[in-house]
Amino acid sequence: MKKTNIDFEKELNKLNVRGIEINYYFICKTKLFLFMNNMGLEKNHENVELGKLLHETSYRSNKDKEVIINKIAIDFIKKNKKEDFIEIHEVKKSDKMELADYYQILYYIYYLKKLGIESKGVINYPNQNKKKEITLNDENIKNLIPVIQEIEKIRNSNLIIPPKKKKYCKKCAYYEFCFS
Ligand code: SF4
Repeated sequence: MKKTNIDFEKELNKLNVRGIEINYYFICKTKLFLFMNNMGLEKNHENVELGKLLHETSYRSNKDKEVIINKIAIDFIKKNKKEDFIEIHEVKKSDKMELADYYQILYYIYYLKKLGIESKGVINYPNQNKKKEITLNDENIKNLIPVIQEIEKIRNSNLIIPPKKKKYCKKCAYYEFCFS
């Protein structure tokens, strides 16, 4: 694993966005706003429980490798022995939110790079027997930066983002809040 001489603490302080916030940004900005304002309704929601169960029962041998670094929680990591980098893995229950999953793991790769650690990402969809590999490049960094900036703007705003009905709203933990 390549490491450079970086002031970890300084870099960590600059990286304030959580992986789940990147994911929610692409799913629904109202959900992101509510989550960032500690509504926390999804804690015991059925879909979250399903996700946890999937995580716990898939890839059992790697379960102990869950890595939490400040704001990010990576499902598991593997060392690529042939090449000098680590693989970071996320486990998702379906590819319906592929764009959100893609940016979440892209952010993890970016986050680690900021700490001087080179990595590649893999999104695992065990229910569909599918994997997607992700690497960081100039182009996707250029797309990621405005997302991070926009999330910070939403964090610093007091104005709730009005909900707009989407096909997956009924499965969202905030449904009652938005539409009752
Ligand atoms: S119910 Fe729909 S609009 Fe409301 S937070 Fe959830 S996804 Fe967003």
